[in-house]
Amino acid sequence: MIEGKCSKCGTLRYGWALLNTRYQTCPKCGSGLDIYKDGHLITKGFSPFTAKRIDVEESRDTPSSQMKDEGEGSL
Ligand SMILES: [Zn+2]
Repeated sequence: MIEGKCSKCGTLRYGWALLNTRYQTCPKCGSGLDIYKDGHLITKGFSPFTAKRIDVEESRDTPSSQMKDEGEGSL
């Protein structure tokens, strides 16, 4: 199970989507979520305030009309 926890306001999020950097931002306060897998911190949260430039490049070849829901048991 993937969990994302906001170290600032304590918001908790669940789901594989959290492995994607665009879902690693707290919906409440905008801080990066800390991502845990099976209770272990695997990555520090992504926040627009600390964003690198990858998101701009990434959005080019990712059609928003096509939602991919994969990874159910692939990890
Ligand atoms: Zn927050």
